[in-house]
Amino acid sequence: MAKFGTVAVVTKREVMDTSTRMAQGGIASVFDQLDSFDLHIQDTLAAGDGLCNRDVVEMVVKNGPDRIRELINLGARFNIKGEKAADGESLNLDLGREGGHSQKRIVHAQDMTGMEIERVLVGHVKNHERITLFEDHIAIDLITISKRMKRGLITTTHEDYCCGAYVLDRNADRVKTFCAQITLLATGGAGKVYLYTSNPDIATGDGIAMAYRAGATVANLEFVQFHPTCLYHSEAKNFLISEAVRGEGGVLIDAAGNAFMQKYDPQKDLACRDVVARAIDNELKKSGDDFVFLDISHKDSGFIQNRFPNLYEKCRSFGFDMTAEPIPVVPAAHYMCGGVATDIYGRTDLKQLYAIGETACTGLHGANRLASNSLIEALVYADTAAKQNIKDIKTLSADYIPDPPPWDEVGTTDSDEHIMVSHNWDEIRRFMWNYVGIVRSDKRLERAKRRIEITQKEINDYYWDFRVSADLIELRNIATVAELIIKCARHRKESRGLHYNIAYPHRDDQRWQKDTVIRRPFVG
Ligand SMILES: Cc1cc2nc3c(=O)[nH]c(=O)nc-3n(C[C@H](O)[C@H](O)[C@H](O)COP(=O)(O)OP(=O)(O)OC[C@H]3O[C@@H](n4cnc5c(N)ncnc54)[C@H](O)[C@@H]3O)c2cc1C
Repeated sequence: MAKFGTVAVVTKREVMDTSTRMAQGGIASVFDQLDSFDLHIQDTLAAGDGLCNRDVVEMVVKNGPDRIRELINLGARFNIKGEKAADGESLNLDLGREGGHSQKRIVHAQDMTGMEIERVLVGHVKNHERITLFEDHIAIDLITISKRMKRGLITTTHEDYCCGAYVLDRNADRVKTFCAQITLLATGGAGKVYLYTSNPDIATGDGIAMAYRAGATVANLEFVQFHPTCLYHSEAKNFLISEAVRGEGGVLIDAAGNAFMQKYDPQKDLACRDVVARAIDNELKKSGDDFVFLDISHKDSGFIQNRFPNLYEKCRSFGFDMTAEPIPVVPAAHYMCGGVATDIYGRTDLKQLYAIGETACTGLHGANRLASNSLIEALVYADTAAKQNIKDIKTLSADYIPDPPPWDEVGTTDSDEHIMVSHNWDEIRRFMWNYVGIVRSDKRLERAKRRIEITQKEINDYYWDFRVSADLIELRNIATVAELIIKCARHRKESRGLHYNIAYPHRDDQRWQKDTVIRRPFVG
């Protein structure tokens, strides 16, 4: 985009503080001779459990290899088999295989693929003279023409559109107005809505909440993917224990030392991710315990240290020796399949607002994401959206002048009640975990609805009285996203993909083979 205009990249902490940086496994794309676009499409559709948009799946899969070549040309170094071929066409990429993929197709840079992508892209961004990077700047709300009309500031016959965002500069403690012809949300996931998550602290669903408040459609938020095994430790926060540990013979056991997976699936500990997460959840709900254990200590100590050097060291740093004892684990919210609804070009239904990456609901994942399909979705949509942006900008009318009023904080004072923010934050994450987590029921969802209504009211009363702060912005956003997840989950009266409700344990294609779509009613 910077070839065609100036670009401001706004990021609420340091630029590398993202989920992308944490992605270990890799990027799914067709390079192997035995693989084909058709097979990748079939695998994606199968994971999506009847809700993928086939056109989107085809578009992403078919554009994947070109985007990876582009990254390589920009300087990304992925693992290769033997020597690198001189021409980009015959790349000899070392391809991994992951659950749900019928072929080897995971392009990776050791187990730090996301870090490599960020290294390259951030390097280019920092060196581009028409791109300005604003770190420690947190977007509060999108600016729309209707908001301005509501305040009686302008008159227009235009359809509503987005013309920028209000952004808090955390260091200067000042709200800035960013005006833009095109605004693109790439704000990532919403794992922090849940008590346990593999996501970094930035994943508070801000893009989803902002887009919804601005009047854009959001969709499929009931489909939250949980990773079965995150290390349980107060300081480990979001440390994932790879599924490869179970692949090498690790067994899940309860506090009394009993293995339990045989009760849930003939494949026992090697059952698929959702089944294992659900089984652990059920064991925890029955026992009231906070975690179960993963035990691989029966294997040779040298083998464990050799096979899992990083995991072994990390566990040691938290006081656990996986060669000698079981380690405590808990499932964790990992990926949000739903988000801001977009078309095949990344456009939302609010004009001049785009959404890409995990914050978007493009139709690729349907009811469940196929492993390593998220980075490829982000890459492909970044390209598609940029090309569409360029076309859109050319069509903007001549009288288009984004000139919003400054942020209004008249009548607000500095907050003296931080406890209220931290209490509400903690409460939301806990009831979302307990009532809207891996296994849902109508009763639990109803309870969650009542809780979120009370919490929302408290937050709204508080929000408008005090000067805005980063904590308050994030609290308001996790509350909004929690409310939307609950709404979507209550609406879907079946079990499909990642949404499992014990009252309706089966998939019902006749009534529910459709997206769950929510749009905020216009508040005049
Ligand atoms: C531990 C882990 C491992 C994973 N492994 C893989 C894998 O192997 N393969 C795969 O395909 N996927 C993987 N995923 C998923 C994948 O990493 C993410 O879906 C993807 O990286 C999301 O990219 P994104 O650009 O949408 O968001 P992010 O990379 O999370 O970036 C979001 C950005 O938005 C900024 N932001 C958010 N809110 C605001 C705001 N209000 N104001 C200003 N800035 C804001 C943040 O500061 C951040 O810079 C993994 C995820 C995790 C957590």
